[in-house]
Amino acid sequence: MKPKKSLGQNFIHDENFLNKLNGEIKSGTKTNIIEIGPGKGALTKYLIKKKYRKIILIEKDNSLIKYLEEFKEENVIIINADALSFDLLGLNIANDGVIVGNLPFNISSQLLLQWTKFKYWPPFYNKMYLMFQRELGERIIAKENSKAYGRISVLCQSRFSIKKLLLAPAGIFSPKPKVDGIVLEFSPINKYKQINIKKLETILRKAFLHRRKKIKSSLKDYIEVLTKNNFDLDKRAENLSVNDYCRISVLIK
Ligand code: SAM
Repeated sequence: MKPKKSLGQNFIHDENFLNKLNGEIKSGTKTNIIEIGPGKGALTKYLIKKKYRKIILIEKDNSLIKYLEEFKEENVIIINADALSFDLLGLNIANDGVIVGNLPFNISSQLLLQWTKFKYWPPFYNKMYLMFQRELGERIIAKENSKAYGRISVLCQSRFSIKKLLLAPAGIFSPKPKVDGIVLEFSPINKYKQINIKKLETILRKAFLHRRKKIKSSLKDYIEVLTKNNFDLDKRAENLSVNDYCRISVLIK
């Protein structure tokens, strides 16, 4: 079977790496695990040996389903669907969910943002273990005053505590991609309870549209609120912390 580039099919063949990743993923008899893009089951074969209430596999490529059928046990559910349009909330998992995935690189940020922007927070899952291209992973965890810091850093860090879990050198994949990967662990936080994620997104879009502009210009729509609350108007988008952005989103109407 020829791997499909359009579906980001870079399969992990390094058993050492898979073993390590599996060791990091929490399990429990009440936990439901959702694996996105299980492929031929490289990681799945480890997951099924652990204790989970349900193991839900969501794979878009119809031709890979036959490989996954080999793992079919009572608690394994195989879904042939596109994770981008699949409604995870419809699975009715109460609150002990775990999402894992060696995600297709081309849609990994889209998927992550989808799972970051659930209206009700904390969400139904309490951990996510996701693989990204290393460069994107570094942007997700970047702190203010750095080049890598941007919209995705603020959005994600407003909702998760994020840990760098494992580096994934390009050589562990087949076919070998041009870049290395990184696995991040996401734990939902409730620190910024009152933030409205849509409002936060709007502010971030304006601020980072021209990231070198001072906020007195990029965020001029909120100038009154910023002045009244002693924000330094000479700062630029990348100088405001996650906390600053969350504060602004609460302060504005
Ligand atoms: N987990 C496997 C592994 O590590 O070897 C495969 C990982 S591969 C990087 C990404 C997988 O996601 C492929 O199996 C691909 O077919 C699947 N995929 C691609 N787009 C998808 C989508 N929109 N929804 C669900 N699965 C998708």
